[in-house]
Amino acid sequence: MKNVFLIKYGELAIKGKNRHLFENKLVSNVKRNLKEIGEFIVTKEQGRIMVEPVEDDSIDVESVIDKLGRIFGIVGIAYGIKDEEVSFEAVKRLARVQMEQIVGDKQVTFKVDTRRADKRFPMTSMEVSCELGAYLLDEFKDAIKVDVRKPEITLMVEIRNHTYVYLKTYKGAGGMPYGTNGKATLLLSGGIDSPVAGWMIAKRGVEVDAVYFHAPPYTSDRAKQKVVDLAKKVSMYTGNLKLHVVNFTDIQLKIYERCPHEELTIIMRRIMMYIAEAIAKQNGSMALITGESIGQVASQTMHSLVVTNDAATMPVFRPLIGFDKEEIVQIAKRIDTFETSIQPFEDCCTIFVAKHPETKPKLEYIKKSEALLDDIIEEMIEKAINEVEIINC
Ligand code: ATP
Ligand code: MG
Repeated sequence: MKNVFLIKYGELAIKGKNRHLFENKLVSNVKRNLKEIGEFIVTKEQGRIMVEPVEDDSIDVESVIDKLGRIFGIVGIAYGIKDEEVSFEAVKRLARVQMEQIVGDKQVTFKVDTRRADKRFPMTSMEVSCELGAYLLDEFKDAIKVDVRKPEITLMVEIRNHTYVYLKTYKGAGGMPYGTNGKATLLLSGGIDSPVAGWMIAKRGVEVDAVYFHAPPYTSDRAKQKVVDLAKKVSMYTGNLKLHVVNFTDIQLKIYERCPHEELTIIMRRIMMYIAEAIAKQNGSMALITGESIGQVASQTMHSLVVTNDAATMPVFRPLIGFDKEEIVQIAKRIDTFETSIQPFEDCCTIFVAKHPETKPKLEYIKKSEALLDDIIEEMIEKAINEVEIINC
C-alpha cells in the first residue's frame, strides 16, 4: 500500500494528436514543479497522472497539493492510497484503511463511487460500489451510514492498472498545460491588472515573458522590486518568468519636453508598444499582452485603445477588456498578486500624466505629435532595447 496523488485533467477538451503532446507537457510540468518539494515518481495511467512520493513519510501533503493546484491543465487533485494488485480484495483493504481515518464518535454518512478503467475487471462499477458499501457497513457497524444523495463522505474507488481509493478531490487551476500554445510578452506594471492579464493568458497554455518600463529616479528601486515580486507571484504558476526591465527615463523626458502634455500618456503607451514588440520578436513571442480594460482610465477609452493598438503590428491580447475592476480584484486575490499590487509605489505613468489627459485622441494628431520626436526616437528606442536588464523571476 502506497500514498499517491491522482491528477485529473481535462480529458475531453483535447482530442487527436495534440492530446499526446498535452499529456507529455503536463507530466514534465508536474515533474519540474515538484522538484523543489521532494522526490516523486510521476507516471501516466489511462487518463490520469499519478504522483508517488519516493519516501512516504517525508512529504508535506499540503504543499504538494498547493503546488499541483497551481499547474495549468490540472482540473482536480486527489490524495489517496494505492495497491499494486487489481482485485476486489485490494479495494476492500484500501477502503478499510481510508474509512478508519474518518470514523469517530459521531456517525458519518457515506457513499461509494467507483470508476473502472479496466473493463476486464470481473465486477461492474455498480457492483463494486454496492458490495464495498455492504462490506464497510459490516466492518464499521453503527459508525457509518449510507446516504447516496447527500453523503458527508464519498469514498472514491478507481480500478486501473492498479487499485486506488481516496476521499477528497481538490480543485485544480484548470486551463491548458503551460508551454503548449506558443509564447507572448506581457507588459507588466506594478498595478493590479497586468499580473492578472498575464496569468489568464498563461492559463491557456501560452508561455509568458514580461517587459517592465522603469523610469529612475522618478520611479524608485522599490517600485521596480514590486514588479519583480509580482513576476515571482505569476511564476508560482508558470515555473519561471523572464522579466525585461527597460530604462524608460530618457524617452519619457523627451516626450515631456516636446509633445503636448495632454497627449503624454497616449504617446508613451505607443512607444511602450514599439519597444515591447521589438523585445517580443527577439524572444520568439508571437503576441503582446496588456492589462487594459475598456474605460478604466483616460488612456483606456475606446479611442485611446485604438490609438495605442495602432502602434503594434503583433496581435495584442487584452484578456481583461470587458472586466470590471471588482472582477479583476477577485482574481488578483485568488492568485495572490493583490497584496503586492496595492503597495503604494509610484508608477512611471502616474508621474508624467497631464492634469487633463486626452480621452478622445485622434490617430492622425497623435502621429503628428509623435513626429516631433522623429530625429531621436529610433536611436533612443534602440538604446533602451540594447540596455535592457533581464531578471529571471
Ligand atoms: P495595471 O494595474 O496593470 O498597472 P492600470 O489600470 O494601472 O493597469 P495603466 O497604467 O493605464 O492601467 O496601464 C495599462 C496597461 O499598460 C497595463 O495593464 C500594462 O499592461 C501596461 N503598462 C502600464 N505601465 C506599464 C509599465 N510601467 N511597464 C510595463 N507595462 C505597463
Ligand atoms: Mg498601471
